[in-house]
Amino acid sequence: MYDLANPAVEDLELAHFDGDFSMTIGGAAASAGEFLDVVNPATGEIIAKVPDCTAAQLDEAVAAARSAFPAWRATPLEERRAAVAKFAEVLAVHAQEFARLFTLEQGRPVAKAMEEIMGAAFWCKAVSDQEIPVIVNEDSPERRSETRHVPLGVVGGIVPWNFPMLLGVWKIAPALLTGNTIVIKPSPFTPLTMLKLAELMREHLPAGVFNVVTGGDRLGPWLTAHQGIDKISFTGSTATGRRVMESAASNLKRLTLELGGNDAAIVMPDVDVEQVAEKLFWAAFGNNGQICIATKRLYVHKDIYDAVAQALVDYAGKVKVGNGLEQGTDIGPVQNRVQFERVKDLIADARASGLNFLTGGDVPEESGGGYFLPVTIVDNPPEESRVVQEEAFGPVLPMLKFDDVDDVIARANASEYGLAGSVWSADLDKAVEIAGRLETGTVWINEAQYLMPWTPFGGHKQSGVGIENGQDGLLQYTNPQTISVRKDAHSAGA
Ligand code: NAD
Repeated sequence: MYDLANPAVEDLELAHFDGDFSMTIGGAAASAGEFLDVVNPATGEIIAKVPDCTAAQLDEAVAAARSAFPAWRATPLEERRAAVAKFAEVLAVHAQEFARLFTLEQGRPVAKAMEEIMGAAFWCKAVSDQEIPVIVNEDSPERRSETRHVPLGVVGGIVPWNFPMLLGVWKIAPALLTGNTIVIKPSPFTPLTMLKLAELMREHLPAGVFNVVTGGDRLGPWLTAHQGIDKISFTGSTATGRRVMESAASNLKRLTLELGGNDAAIVMPDVDVEQVAEKLFWAAFGNNGQICIATKRLYVHKDIYDAVAQALVDYAGKVKVGNGLEQGTDIGPVQNRVQFERVKDLIADARASGLNFLTGGDVPEESGGGYFLPVTIVDNPPEESRVVQEEAFGPVLPMLKFDDVDDVIARANASEYGLAGSVWSADLDKAVEIAGRLETGTVWINEAQYLMPWTPFGGHKQSGVGIENGQDGLLQYTNPQTISVRKDAHSAGA
């Protein structure tokens, strides 16, 4: 029996996808003349090659999505619901194969990879049940005015490498439910699971409704500039988000941008240190710190700073960093070489600046080809240091001391980012009051990273434009259309 808590390589090899990774364009497999290597971050080995989409192939994918659009928007909503629910079924039925492939390309331990696959299935099912509202503005003897929500057309979806499946279905499910067609571009670092999903969905969807293209650095800009695309839904870094916005301007594409963050956690002196330490650890180091809403600045009240530091260091000592396909691994490698070098540079900068490490901070010279870094906690660095100011997006956490609530709120808000944050306290009223003063799209109290399909999620400031999830997120794939009917125009005496 497959044991999720103790995944073993032998079990996983019972179920895996074949090694053919083609794009899906107009409902059919598409290869290309050139290919990109996909690397296993735990070993540095090339595990697959994927097509490097040409500009002509992107045109084909957009044309296929465009020609599928009229029939898809006219398809009864109940059939579109069934199609979105089919994604959930396909993900769940093939969860084991997806999880193994996910670990090979992304690095995350296989049990956690399985959580993402099943989470994506759960998301698709939940979105398939969402209502597309009709708002009645006026219903009087003279007039009925209502606002409906009609699809935009062709959506271009751009996905990062940290949650390659979940963040993909966050775009696919609402786009298709509301009657749009879509062209998805996964990250070149993690294209495999999305290519397989599209392959498995070919038989369940009309040709052209769901296309997946893969490519290198040229492909994203081609997509965002394409005149056949009506909306871009982008998840990635703030720097790239700015480029996407510029590029989308030529035909006024609708935009949803989910961008970077530098989330603060504020830990008040009344918490039970033993109880919160493990939760704080995973808020910062889940997925090796490669989460947009990871805790990236940990502010702890001075009265409990030492106790929390000790508890985190003790916990870190029990955590196993390694190949995600090996039993007992808690944290995998950094996902790709570029990010590995970036995080190493941040650690080297902290060391060169004379900062103190509570744990970690040593970068191994040799790690068997994989991109492994130790869990690293920096001890109360100055607010202006790079490790505090920059989004690490890796296993490096600055732990900072505070004394005064107004001061810590000001420090938490002194960031260009405004994605999310958390407050930890036994006094819920006080925590809610602090939360209300944080300049972020989401604030959690006594937990972190709780996201649901029915809860709107989006960034303030430089962390994004627009919303994903919830009804607000669904409606971002629509144009409001108001139909106003004068009822009495043809009645006697009118
Ligand atoms: P990235 O911006 O480098 O890449 C994201 C995607 O954009 C990839 O598919 C990439 O190929 C593509 N891309 C790159 N240049 C492009 C361009 N000029 N035009 C169009 N597309 C382009 O980000 P990443 O390194 O893959 O992901 C990490 C970043 O994503 C972090 O900053 C993280 O905080 C952020 N992120 C945000 C959220 C959120 O919901 N707010 C979620 C996950 C990750």
